Amino acid sequence: MKAARTILYILAGIIIVFSFLFILGAFSPDGSTSWLWVGIIGLLVGFLCIFWGSRLGAKAEQTTQNVTLQVDLPGNVSMDTIKCQSCGAPLSAEDIKMVNGAPMVSCPNCGTTYQLTEEPKW
Ligand SMILES: [Zn+2]
Repeated sequence: MKAARTILYILAGIIIVFSFLFILGAFSPDGSTSWLWVGIIGLLVGFLCIFWGSRLGAKAEQTTQNVTLQVDLPGNVSMDTIKCQSCGAPLSAEDIKMVNGAPMVSCPNCGTTYQLTEEPKW
């Protein structure tokens, strides 16, 4: 997905540069007004490519984060044994979020937020 985004951005860059040339050409003595339209449409297509590229990137990053969450969670901890360190309330997978690459627990019961360590003390 990252390669697709890079290709889209390069493509968008080329399209936008050519569109500018067409618009400039339209104002030159040999130019025709139809070139102006080609340039404007080209610019629109170019910016659409960037828009798609950023959307593709957002999707790809989301997928990566989900994968990281599964990989980075301590392997010896099963979800139904995790309890809040300060109040002891059971925690579910939704209460654990990835912050800067570290699994952070945010307790829905007492509101405490702390980092999930590799060797839990409970
Ligand atoms: Zn708690």
